[in-house]
Amino acid sequence: MSHYVKFTYQRAGADIAPFDALAELNACRRRLVDQHLLGVYPNGVGFGNMSVRDGRTTSFYITGSATGVLPELSPRDCVRVVAYDFARNWLSYEGAAIPSSESLTHAAVYESDPTISAVIHCHDSALWRTLLDRVPSSSKRVIYGTPEMAHEIMRLFNVTDLRRRAILAMAGHEGGIVTFGKNLEDAFEVLMRERSESSPCI
Ligand SMILES: [Zn+2]
Repeated sequence: MSHYVKFTYQRAGADIAPFDALAELNACRRRLVDQHLLGVYPNGVGFGNMSVRDGRTTSFYITGSATGVLPELSPRDCVRVVAYDFARNWLSYEGAAIPSSESLTHAAVYESDPTISAVIHCHDSALWRTLLDRVPSSSKRVIYGTPEMAHEIMRLFNVTDLRRRAILAMAGHEGGIVTFGKNLEDAFEVLMRERSESSPCI
């Protein structure tokens, strides 16, 4: 089991076929890496992950754990999450990689709104500080990659304007930001808009 992944998982299939959204995923991912929103810290720990819904199903493709160092992802670096259970902190997937530690967080976003088809989780400490409590923010007590985070995200969809804002800050996860949209381009644009609005005018 991966050191970072906190849920239990079951591999339902050894490999996934190349999927349509992979090119879009890699293109968006390059832009995130260029802006240091996803990648690897100097200590070797990767950060950031991305997913796309598989058509109109409840399954989704997500980047694998510990892939932050790779310049380009192949199908072997992604998995298709085909089932999950928040209460059991469990998921089932197909693919050669280990699902991202935030897979259940992504699942909670898809579960909350069937029109959402892409989710980005990135790190940006400066933007995160300006977003905290200005946009829907998860409780400081809730730790990333736990069932509590999945429930917290679903709670935010219910009690805040998260659906309209399409961005949330994870108060208990330094730098942790989640954006989403009907595709990756949308999710990325939300991030860029918040970034430009929060930049100080000099
Ligand atoms: Zn994170």
